Amino acid sequence: MSKADIGLIGLGVMGANLTLNIAEHGYTVAVHNRTASKIDDFIANSGEFSSRLIGDADLGEFVKSIKRPRSVIIMIKAGKPVDMVIAELLEHLEEGDAIIEAGNANYHDSVRRYEELKAKGIGFLGIGVSGGEEGARHGPSIMVGGSREQWHRSEKLLSDISAKFNGEPCAAYLGEDGAGHFVKTIHNGIEYADMQMIAEVYGVMRDGMGMSPLACAEIFKKWNEGPLNSYLIEITGLVLEAVDEKTGKPLIELILDKAGQKGTGRWSAIAAQELGVAATAIEGAVAARSISSLKDERIVAEKIYGAPGTGKSDISLDILEQALLASKIAAYAQGFAVMSKASEENNWDLPLGTIARIWRAGCIIRSRFLDQMASSYEKDDAVNLLVAPDFVKIMKSNHKALRQVVAAGAIGEFPLPCLSAALAYFDSYRQANGTANLIQGQRDFFGAHGFILVDRKGEQHGNWPSTL
Ligand code: NDP
Repeated sequence: MSKADIGLIGLGVMGANLTLNIAEHGYTVAVHNRTASKIDDFIANSGEFSSRLIGDADLGEFVKSIKRPRSVIIMIKAGKPVDMVIAELLEHLEEGDAIIEAGNANYHDSVRRYEELKAKGIGFLGIGVSGGEEGARHGPSIMVGGSREQWHRSEKLLSDISAKFNGEPCAAYLGEDGAGHFVKTIHNGIEYADMQMIAEVYGVMRDGMGMSPLACAEIFKKWNEGPLNSYLIEITGLVLEAVDEKTGKPLIELILDKAGQKGTGRWSAIAAQELGVAATAIEGAVAARSISSLKDERIVAEKIYGAPGTGKSDISLDILEQALLASKIAAYAQGFAVMSKASEENNWDLPLGTIARIWRAGCIIRSRFLDQMASSYEKDDAVNLLVAPDFVKIMKSNHKALRQVVAAGAIGEFPLPCLSAALAYFDSYRQANGTANLIQGQRDFFGAHGFILVDRKGEQHGNWPSTL
């Protein structure tokens, strides 16, 4: 067999599906996996694509089976395992070859790996791949960071295997070193917020309006035909209508209310904090997952205070839909604000419009309004989505609904951490005269930190009374 166009290490869920996707586009792929038995099994079960796969359990032979200059995708468990595999690969790669790290890496690791490999003459791309198993197999959204030269070498293949929106590939080069993995991290942060806000609205329907899972499912299906149209709204309808085969009960009522998390949402909140950008809806979503894990403590607390959410709400479904739309815009505005600041700090020049474009298909947060968002960042060069003309219109006609829902939640005792964070962000962002003057006064009182007076130049201090 002739040499492979590309190599891929890691035949887990994502790696196996990505390999089949690459092979389906006519490329020959060399594959390798730590557990050697998976290699032959995978090739044997790859049907018509088997002839385009070359497997080798020996890393050196695997590397030799790839055309030079070689590109090797690593799609394994993120973190230390990736460093171990890179170290082993370096014994076999030659100058001019490149590594494409495709797992959910922490972007700080990608920055480091890019520099370390550059010093050794090895190219590096850190690519964020979104879309889960289905996306990997049939077209993910691919966020690329690293060496521009390597991107030019890999652009055709990565574009070929990516999702398409109106024929446009959802793969793009976003900036140097860790830019791709950073953008994937923020994608996941936004995903956390989006999911949590949908869950909160489901909570209002269930506890405040007494709706059955099937009735909720019908509403989400209807909403999927309107401005909320998105993959997450679509699957929410499908999850809510599923029935447990064993009991015949709605499956949702049997699923334990403890949410898992693998870390990218948390990284996103940490990045926002490190950069000094308000991303309260994303932070609220991460915190909500953490509180969800405290099932035993929540049971005890509910016995003490009574069950929240038992008061009936008079919120209409139309108001709920509008509230979800407004809160979603605030959460996306936060995610994009974090990327904008990170771009400045890291000299990435992140193309925000392009990022919205490559999220229109393939990834978990794909939605209709990302198309509108792409135009706002490209056409209007928006500082913040909340002041982009298209979104100003939507916010003006929907923020009152968000207010009504958050108020109903507070009075009716439904926890709405993300919806209320989105509303507070909107209200803080649009308030020209805030309350930080008092914070500055307090800071100067106890720490002589100084403040600026609106009618004078230079830093001032107050002549504060002693409290001793
Ligand atoms: P799986 O658990 O299905 O597969 C893990 C892969 O990593 C296996 O090939 C495994 O090899 C390999 N591996 C684990 N530890 C080591 C090690 N120490 N040395 C060498 N190889 C190792 O994971 P996924 O395919 O789901 O995920 C792969 C990457 O993709 C992760 O970074 C994940 O976060 C990311 N990702 C996952 C998504 C998803 O929806 N699942 C979506 C987007 C990104 P072995 O067979 O020998 O155990």
